Amino acid sequence: MISVLGELALPDLTTLGLPDPLGEYIAIRREHGQVLNLLAVIDGSKPCLDDWIPVAAIERYTDLCERFGLYVRSGIQFDVMTHEEAEKAVGSGTLTTTRARAREIGDPRGSVHVFVGRDPAVVDNTFYAGWYPLVVGERATSKPWIDHIWFGEGLGYPTCCLEAFARNNNWSINNMPYQAARVTRNPLGLCNSIMRFTGLTWAPHLPCSYDCAATTEQSRKLRDLTLRTAPQLVPIVDGLCTGTFLLLSEWEAFALHGINRDGDGITYAGASLVPSNRPNESLYEALRCGDRLEVRDDLVVVFAGPEVVRVEACRTDGFAPRVPVLLSFQGPGQ
Ligand SMILES: [Zn+2]
Repeated sequence: MISVLGELALPDLTTLGLPDPLGEYIAIRREHGQVLNLLAVIDGSKPCLDDWIPVAAIERYTDLCERFGLYVRSGIQFDVMTHEEAEKAVGSGTLTTTRARAREIGDPRGSVHVFVGRDPAVVDNTFYAGWYPLVVGERATSKPWIDHIWFGEGLGYPTCCLEAFARNNNWSINNMPYQAARVTRNPLGLCNSIMRFTGLTWAPHLPCSYDCAATTEQSRKLRDLTLRTAPQLVPIVDGLCTGTFLLLSEWEAFALHGINRDGDGITYAGASLVPSNRPNESLYEALRCGDRLEVRDDLVVVFAGPEVVRVEACRTDGFAPRVPVLLSFQGPGQ
């Protein structure tokens, strides 16, 4: 299971007695990556999802989807690489949140990349645009820009967010979460996808802003659907989307608990590490030792009482620029 370190540690979802197909999905997948998206696809409010199913479980997964009237198209197999393994591939500096080796369908290693929806034509279109830069023969591949947009359309993301993605999601020179933060007036939990690697956020995509109207509407519908069909999940998801976050990039974010803003800084009683494939664990440790921080332009200064325990300098002149921002998200039930 993808979990969260710190106070927001997730319960074991297999113990919640979730209705099928969610209960069986989690038993098959052993993670909750697409649990909410699966609800939305079965409901018909989301056109398509993509997921990674362990090779040994693919037939059981396909049977499950077919029982709920869904069409499944399998792509290639992903075999997740460690950061150190990926570094050895030519062009690995361009890899972002997916670091995996491509395997042929039928290879016993890895997970099958699947596309699932009600309408086979929509699923097929998403399949053709929905591929990830992978390592093939020790070389990283790269994907045409337009496929990112067509992939997002297939997954049902709002047009405003796709347009913002087209403008801002260039990891060589830009930082999409920062661009969303700087045009946000009133951060809403319904638009907070910072914890999306858990699969347990109302918004599954990178929004154009953290108060995007189209995302708010889509997320509200998904939350209402979950209240009707799997209410056990609602307080868990609300908890992951609400509260104050220190956000540096797609890789590096932290939830802060028991906070109090004090002029230039913020005091806090605890911190949780947002999962990603490249989390900043040393900054997390510093935050856990501290009780107050200040964001001073490109510096994050962490204090424990009067002592400075860490000065995190955030570069923007390289790949994956980091820009520190503090955001406080209003809860979806408010
Ligand atoms: Zn938007």
